[in-house]
Amino acid sequence: MIKHIALLFLILSFLTSCMKGQKVDLIVHNAKIHVMDDANSVYDAMAISDGNVVEVGAERQILNKYRSEEDIDALGKDVYPGLTDAHGHLLMYANQKLGVDLTGAKSMEEVIYRCEKYYAKSSNKFIVGGGWDQSLWPNESMPNNLELSKVFKNIPVCLYRIDGHAALVNDFLVKKAKITSNNVDGGEVKMEKGIPTGLLIDHAMNSISSFIPAYSQKQVKEAILEIQEELFQYGITGTHEAGIENKHIKLFKSLVASGKLKLELYAMLLNSADNRSFAVKNGPYRYRNLSIRSFKVFADGSLGSRGALLKKPYTDDHHSHGLLLTSVNEMRNVAHFCLKNGYQMNTHGIGDSANALILDIYKNAFKRNPDHRFRIEHSQVIDPSDFAKFSDYAVFPSVQPTHATSDQRWAEKRIGRERLVGAYAYKTLLSQYGMLAIGTDFPVESTNPFFTIHAAVQRKNQSNEPLKGFLAKEALSLEEVLRGMTIWAAFSSFQERELGSLEKGKKANFVIFSKPLESNPSFVQNYAWMTFIRGKKVFALDEL
Ligand SMILES: [Zn+2]
Repeated sequence: MIKHIALLFLILSFLTSCMKGQKVDLIVHNAKIHVMDDANSVYDAMAISDGNVVEVGAERQILNKYRSEEDIDALGKDVYPGLTDAHGHLLMYANQKLGVDLTGAKSMEEVIYRCEKYYAKSSNKFIVGGGWDQSLWPNESMPNNLELSKVFKNIPVCLYRIDGHAALVNDFLVKKAKITSNNVDGGEVKMEKGIPTGLLIDHAMNSISSFIPAYSQKQVKEAILEIQEELFQYGITGTHEAGIENKHIKLFKSLVASGKLKLELYAMLLNSADNRSFAVKNGPYRYRNLSIRSFKVFADGSLGSRGALLKKPYTDDHHSHGLLLTSVNEMRNVAHFCLKNGYQMNTHGIGDSANALILDIYKNAFKRNPDHRFRIEHSQVIDPSDFAKFSDYAVFPSVQPTHATSDQRWAEKRIGRERLVGAYAYKTLLSQYGMLAIGTDFPVESTNPFFTIHAAVQRKNQSNEPLKGFLAKEALSLEEVLRGMTIWAAFSSFQERELGSLEKGKKANFVIFSKPLESNPSFVQNYAWMTFIRGKKVFALDEL
């Protein structure tokens, strides 16, 4: 009898628990959830608790097993892990937002006009701008400061090129910084008849930085949070910040501590003594959603300003091979330092020579730790004979597909048809390493990930140029580019156990897209319908 009562009790309690279901914080159902696991599973529903995915599965399975106060009917929409921009610059973008925006200016006259308009409204006694691109101007030649210095005689003016690798400064700054000669290691002061033209390339820009006043911390923080909102509307829940100074660690920490910066932030440290001390003291560092365990090093400059280091001279400048910005010896030292302290090394490499030098340095890293995950940021122009080294030494390519479609207007002019074979070669790079980290390099390019998808899959810009796609055989599939912005981006930052897919136990960072996520020959803009970080809604389109 007692046996029977016990059995009955057991059955009853089992039944009531089924009816009630296990309590979770949130259920998303009637969805098309792309888990981004190895099997490429797609499910209808997901249960979330304490910021983590509890289970993904079929609609009935999840609704029968769990109950929650909040549940979202996703109306059959596509759900993906929150996107990661694996290479961007929040700080640079924040500074750009606070200064004059010169993107898309069609001439030097327009650049000056925008500066005048900005200055008339600004309370700052200086002008810093960014975003000009001489390839959009009538004669496409690099500018000088003659007109700029006439208009702004008594305040510092510094205008960065869109790639951040060149700046045009007025004579006021040239004199303040006592720039007289073209003697700069890893940089160049452009001269005309022995006089500086105000155009500074790469390391030559270092001489002026101390003469430009900084914006207040409050201004910078507000601008960063504004950018965060911009990212959320696209379903971006994480960024890899490509290079910060020591003082910025504090800035990001305080933003994270206040709970206002919600993005999963993977910040790369610039190579400085202060930052090395930080790495020695802390090792791989974690503070809530801020992760720091990598160094960003510049091997060379950019192709747009002819700072990219090439094996053979530029096709449109036979005297120049570009610039080596960090000596091979120093890069070796950084690699050694990173391996010793459990850090990753992410080196900016655009030209084929820069990439070859980096690959050789990483060869030694591979010998010491086959899972080093050292990255080459951009991996832009590769000598075809060097591709195999990406797989031989397990080098992680980090690419920004919109660079291909932005540069396609002039890339052949710079490096010639022959070298284009190994340029913006994302499919080839993917076949070597098996993964890509994909980003935008904002503010050099737009934060809009749908431009990235279009550039990677269709090899076209948002105006659908060029018609047949630029170097179209290097196109990625939609799934590949999405992996590059989710699970592979997580791998490229040692966070694959927590981020990048919607598997059980991982952070519930996800986006429900407004429209089906697909790639068409003609560009279609999409938006997040809702964006979630750690189970909390951070953006909803209909709440705008
Ligand atoms: Zn960058």
